[in-house]
Amino acid sequence: MEESIRGCQALLEQQHGLRVSLDEPLSVHTSFGVGGPADLFIEPHTPSALAMAIRVLRANAVPYVVIGKGTNLLAADAGVRGAVVSLHPGLSRVEVKGSRVIAGAGATIGKFCHVAADAGLSGAEFTAGIPGTIGGGLNMNAGANGGSMGDLAMGVTVLDSDGFAQVLTGKDLDWGYRESRVSRESLCVVEATFAMAVSSPERVHQAIYEALQNRCQKQPLGSRSAGSIFKRPRGDYAGRLIEEAGAKGLRVGGAEISRKHANFIVNTGSATAADVIRLIRMVQHTVYDRFGVWLEPEVRIIGELPEELREENRSVCAFGRTGDHNR
Ligand SMILES: Cc1cc2nc3c(=O)[nH]c(=O)nc-3n(C[C@H](O)[C@H](O)[C@H](O)COP(=O)(O)OP(=O)(O)OC[C@H]3O[C@@H](n4cnc5c(N)ncnc54)[C@H](O)[C@@H]3O)c2cc1C
Repeated sequence: MEESIRGCQALLEQQHGLRVSLDEPLSVHTSFGVGGPADLFIEPHTPSALAMAIRVLRANAVPYVVIGKGTNLLAADAGVRGAVVSLHPGLSRVEVKGSRVIAGAGATIGKFCHVAADAGLSGAEFTAGIPGTIGGGLNMNAGANGGSMGDLAMGVTVLDSDGFAQVLTGKDLDWGYRESRVSRESLCVVEATFAMAVSSPERVHQAIYEALQNRCQKQPLGSRSAGSIFKRPRGDYAGRLIEEAGAKGLRVGGAEISRKHANFIVNTGSATAADVIRLIRMVQHTVYDRFGVWLEPEVRIIGELPEELREENRSVCAFGRTGDHNR
């Protein structure tokens, strides 16, 4: 694969003018701040450059994973073999057209939310404080306070695994809890159009302010994390179960269950991906022994875990198949 990687690098850099690096540390591209190097790291700045990159990778049989701001990712300590295609900060245009907002996959959800608010368009206030991108948000069907991004998306331009574009309607994407056709079929989001309701900038900004205040009170925003580490179990909250099982403050190496919000694992400074995985496993067992509920991780793992952790964590990885978007 090394030869294919160098071939792709040369082609993308020299012939197509893309920004490409070798052995890029993923710890600087994830909010957790952990993760080893990606063999090839590509940052396309236009939809056509993105499509080109995917076609070149496919033609050279180099597996790849698309990322946004890395705020829901746990990158393996050994890194990612193949390519990581990063859409942030490229593809970050956000435009208002009447009561619609059109946003590039690499735009932050925060930018989308504020541009909508400035135009007096309501509907996205629940996203305030979700730190990822439009692409990552649609892949995850990110949400809060009863709303989720899929509810707002009326049209999504995606690339299939061969780099060919199609425009899907919101309905086509069959949204589920923290998943959709985007994640199930490993589609790459390029751009999305959101349908908003007409309001006033003051009202929308006020609602955003309140949502942000609420987050600041409840979440450990000053620490490195990937947000909620587990999905919400049916009829309950992961944070409540973890707290009542006495796991708040539990620690493995540099990874700790936040003392502020029990469904957050924070990197206290020196955490490795292995620490995080071991802590996830420990919490799953603790909660299961106490309540009979097996918590399912929300965080996505990219790259290969060591054999020992793969065996130990079959159920940890079952949710998303380690490297699940590697094609
Ligand atoms: C402090 C904090 C608070 C958070 N609060 C919330 C919350 O309230 N609600 C919530 O749902 N989440 C929350 N999150 C998690 C995270 O921000 C969201 O899941 C976000 O949508 C991830 O976006 P991202 O760009 O960072 O995606 P990444 O983490 O980069 O990727 C996540 C997944 O999306 C895929 N992906 C990324 N870009 C694309 C693309 N263009 N096309 C297709 N697939 C893509 C990746 O392959 C990966 O599988 C929080 C995280 C943090 C750190």
